[in-house]
Amino acid sequence: MPTRNAPGSPRLLLRRLREAMAEPVSAQARLDRIVVQIAANMVAEVCSVYVLRADGRLELFATEGLNREAVHLTTMRAGEGLVGLIARNAEPLALSEAQSHPSFSYKPETGEEIYNAFLGVPILRGGNTLGVLVVQNRAHRVYAEEEVEVLETIAMLLAEMIASGELQAIVRPGAEIAARRPLALKGSAVSEGVGLGHVVLHQPRVVVTQIVAEDTGKELRRLEESIEAMRAGIDQLLDGDGSAGDHREVLETYRMFANDRGWLRRLREAISTGVTAEAAVERVQNDARARLQRQTDPYLRERLHDLDDLANRLLHQLTGQSLVAGPETLPDNAVLVARSMGPAALLEYDRKRLRGLVLEDAGGSSHVAIVARSLGVPTVGDVDNITSLVEQGDAIIVDGGAGEVQVRPQPDVESAYREKARLRARRQEQYHQLRDKPAVTRDGQTIDLLMNAGLLVDVHHMGEAGVASIGLFRTELQFMLASQFPRLEQQYALYKQVIDATPGCVTFRTLDIGGDKILPYMQTYEEENPALGWRAIRIGLDRPGLLRSQLRALLRAGAGRELRVMFPMVAMVSEFDAARALVARELAHLTRHGYETPSLLKLGVMIEVPSLLWQLDELLARADFISVGSNDLVQYLTAADRDNRRVANRFDVLSAPVLRALAHVADSAARAGKPLTLCGEMGGRPLEAMALVGLGYRAISMSPASVGPVKAAVMGMDAGELGGLLRDLLAKTDAAPSLRGPLKAYADAKGVPL
Ligand code: PEP
Ligand code: MG
Repeated sequence: MPTRNAPGSPRLLLRRLREAMAEPVSAQARLDRIVVQIAANMVAEVCSVYVLRADGRLELFATEGLNREAVHLTTMRAGEGLVGLIARNAEPLALSEAQSHPSFSYKPETGEEIYNAFLGVPILRGGNTLGVLVVQNRAHRVYAEEEVEVLETIAMLLAEMIASGELQAIVRPGAEIAARRPLALKGSAVSEGVGLGHVVLHQPRVVVTQIVAEDTGKELRRLEESIEAMRAGIDQLLDGDGSAGDHREVLETYRMFANDRGWLRRLREAISTGVTAEAAVERVQNDARARLQRQTDPYLRERLHDLDDLANRLLHQLTGQSLVAGPETLPDNAVLVARSMGPAALLEYDRKRLRGLVLEDAGGSSHVAIVARSLGVPTVGDVDNITSLVEQGDAIIVDGGAGEVQVRPQPDVESAYREKARLRARRQEQYHQLRDKPAVTRDGQTIDLLMNAGLLVDVHHMGEAGVASIGLFRTELQFMLASQFPRLEQQYALYKQVIDATPGCVTFRTLDIGGDKILPYMQTYEEENPALGWRAIRIGLDRPGLLRSQLRALLRAGAGRELRVMFPMVAMVSEFDAARALVARELAHLTRHGYETPSLLKLGVMIEVPSLLWQLDELLARADFISVGSNDLVQYLTAADRDNRRVANRFDVLSAPVLRALAHVADSAARAGKPLTLCGEMGGRPLEAMALVGLGYRAISMSPASVGPVKAAVMGMDAGELGGLLRDLLAKTDAAPSLRGPLKAYADAKGVPL
């Protein structure tokens, strides 16, 4: 191996390769020159580049030393031969006697039988294998560790070339390259709508353009300085505001890695092969990502994710590029792609330019999902590995309703989705025409359609959706978006603005935190079963200071008007009594201090915990109204976690037990003459809403996008007729497990649009 600065040194080679890449020649000519350069520099008789195709085969794209005629003809499966082995394991392989390796497979057309020593490295990008780079020697030589590293560095340059799409020009039809192949990915449906656009990575990958180092000593110093700055930044965050909980844990993990000797050693070793500090970080990150993709243990995956985040931070530190996509530089048809994202970050982007959102780690009930739905951004969550599978600017389609993502779609796929988007727009237009009509069934029952909200932006959708009142205002969103507890004045200001902007009435739900709704600044406690743990009203009653200041803010905001407040997750009537006592105390306090109080105060309870189903008479004697939170009620009735994909869809909300429980609530409320609403997600789906109306529900609260479809269904149905049918079905001792079928049949027979 030549010394580093002599002709034939890695540095010289990398520079030559860079030059070759910039030359205005065809892609094939460029690849041909590259393999010649590598072979000459590494004193190898053979250098070959294999590229992974969409069909999973590795195709010989260029060679120096093997038969040229074999180029674009020789292919092998992943796992086949030494090249296939490297591709599958995403790890280098160095052998002095290739033929004796059990995986060796002979391809006669290449004429490689005369070569003994073999060194191959995977061409990796974002942890994905794009191809394999190989050098071979006639002599039985042993490749030095340094040579392996040099070849890995060169592979980075090739990865750049493959991912850029440059090789498309020399791809034969039917032999598309894997890196640029169209992908149809499945995730979970988070926010309805179809969006076509181009990828904008929320955390843009740093494009390392300067791979070759001029001065290795200088690069080592740059690395040390950046690590130091990054460490200091993390320490500062940890010491700063005493931030607790999840956030702290992540930072602690970062600190651990930032001090991890193995990681730092690998970075330094990479630099010593003659690359820049940023190229070294990218290479080490690539290896970690490849490991991540093969890792199934959730704990280790999490740690490797942390390591990846840290490498990103370091890259940004080294290059001075900003860590997140500048919301100000968003193109017109952006589809944001992120591993995960906080709700506040999403709000910073210009909604008008957003066509969609794809998330790797977040599912339908995450906080960012709630905001995405509020903004009406088509969103798919839980899409494995998406950030590594796309490039900035790639064409992409998001179908939020179906939970599908199409990356680099073929023209026919694209036109099918365009058609779907057009149909949807046409349907929206039809709903729009219903906007100012009341939702009255064929037999003359008026159904009150209300809106669910949680942000001020939601309130602006009311006019568009044609609703006058808010049936559920989730007050915790303000808390989730803040970096510390919102002060009483801030709460008051939001509630007042919401009340002022709403033509009808607003039903505020008091703080529903805990469970999955975590406030980063609030002390958290490890709980075995958070959904059954310390949350919502339970926190409110145990920490009355928090609930009282919220009640005070609400009572002040509702001064001189009707104010409606309801409490979440009540399990016992006594809890409602305790909450009412707090309200009375706050009212007395305000009156004593000369504040104007609401002209009418209505206090309600959410029916979310099944134990309330057997306390309805006592509850209805005390409460001014009740509202069914079907998301939680169904989760607890069926003991199926609403956020767990494996169980959430196991039980149908239109099953007999759920509908019987809902009928019992409706009957009890009617008997007591107390108003009843339902505000869970089921109320926003036309078939489910139709069933609810059949059971006697006359007020349903839903997301604004659901109002049109639900209104159309309500206007097409006969409440009395369906009610009779449903009651008969539910009275049977052999009721079908799900009543979805009979309900659909009814809708079809009557022409109810669903
Ligand atoms: C519910 O549980 O149905 C509900 C409306 O509350 P959330 O979804 O906020 O828990
Ligand atoms: Mg709930």
